[in-house]
Amino acid sequence: MASHQSPSTGGRSLRAVALFLLGALALAAPRSLFSAPPATRRPGQLPATAISAPSAPGGRTAEGLALLKQRKYREAFDILEPLSQARPHDKRLAKSAYIAGLSHLLELYKQKRYEEILSLGDHVTALDPDDYQSYFARGRALEELKRPAEAVDMFRRSRERGDRDFVSRALANAYLLMGDFPNAVESFEEIVSAGKGKRRDLENLGVASYKSGDTEKAIHYLGKALELAPGDPAITALLARYTKEHGVQSNYSSASNAHFEVLFENTPAQRDLKEKLLVLLEAAYAEVTGDFGFRPEETIQVVIYPSGGAFREASDAPTWSAAVYDGKIRIPTGETRVPDEALQRILQHEFTHLVVEKLGGRRVPAWMNEGIAQVEEKREVPWAKPLLRRVLGNKNLRSSFAPLSSLEGSFIGLAGEQAKLCYAQAYYATKFILEMGGMWSFTQMLGDIKDGTEPADALKRATGYDYPDFQKKWVAELMEDFHLAH
Ligand SMILES: [Zn+2]
Repeated sequence: MASHQSPSTGGRSLRAVALFLLGALALAAPRSLFSAPPATRRPGQLPATAISAPSAPGGRTAEGLALLKQRKYREAFDILEPLSQARPHDKRLAKSAYIAGLSHLLELYKQKRYEEILSLGDHVTALDPDDYQSYFARGRALEELKRPAEAVDMFRRSRERGDRDFVSRALANAYLLMGDFPNAVESFEEIVSAGKGKRRDLENLGVASYKSGDTEKAIHYLGKALELAPGDPAITALLARYTKEHGVQSNYSSASNAHFEVLFENTPAQRDLKEKLLVLLEAAYAEVTGDFGFRPEETIQVVIYPSGGAFREASDAPTWSAAVYDGKIRIPTGETRVPDEALQRILQHEFTHLVVEKLGGRRVPAWMNEGIAQVEEKREVPWAKPLLRRVLGNKNLRSSFAPLSSLEGSFIGLAGEQAKLCYAQAYYATKFILEMGGMWSFTQMLGDIKDGTEPADALKRATGYDYPDFQKKWVAELMEDFHLAH
């Protein structure tokens, strides 16, 4: 190949263009995870003069640069990238190829072609591994694909290379999305203490503080968020809930062991109960983590309420629930003495919800979640079988047997009897999955859902059946088990 002089690509103005593009990417991204507003989108309009013409065009390089100037980024990249690989010491060429690649990543982002960003991304990064922007674009794509743990990794790499507000914010949001609340708090606090905190940052900092157990701090930052958005209904509601809970728990004491922090009212009866719970919680931890082969690292918050009334006031739990997991395990006591065995079951059930959230994220269908939580109680749920037998054995009642696909949302709002039937269905459907593929296929299914797979597709991958076929299959097995005619 003839050696021709590297053409000048006007590196500085090109860099400015890419910065501008990435700014548009930051604007296009969702700001809040909990009350997502419609994403504000601003097209990355470029001034026509932004890309300088090469001073010494020649051959394929000139062709690539011309395409770049015409904003045919993909075509430019496909020419410039291999040329750059062939001439690794030509920094200007690498820079031009990088700009073309980066600009194309933005185009893909706007077209929601996130998988393609990932497959192309490391080729773009390789052209300028010290620049923060390609990592940022890849992080955004991972976020859209609901792969927050990998998004965190990309945003961290991006931030190491360029300290920009929108990168820090994306990192903090990704921590929140993956449920790493302590790191989310730290990241949002950095933004806020640098005086860069927007209303969404304060709101998210409030939520992350609450989730990591600091209700007082949560109330403080939600108050600040409300100052910036007076009357906002979502913030107002959240603030009211946290304040109410804080009021109920403000005089509670805390005690910890290896994996749990227990909050309790400091009375002799509750102190005794707390001692017992600390022991039972560790037993529940060993039992459930053994089955899942997964051990959550962070301290798990448990609140014991001295009465059902205090429990429901702080948690909005329905009257039929024995306990609840909503980021914290909350248990009512007081009215009746619960035998240790039952308490142990309750703890295993609620702790399982925490493990499911860690392994599967927030989109795990309620029937899978409640199903596996009941399985982890480690006993045959005594009322489930008679109830299902009664419903399936009666043609008139059979219509109240909902398809599993309709049981993806929370059971919390259901009336007692209806809830019971849903729990029974969830229990047997989950047992059916475990009989087919064992715990391994169940955790695989959770992992798929966390990685962005739709629950229906994850179910199909784990069992080989789509929802309707799966329903037919396990109901048929149940009928057979009950000696009922199909
Ligand atoms: Zn449950």
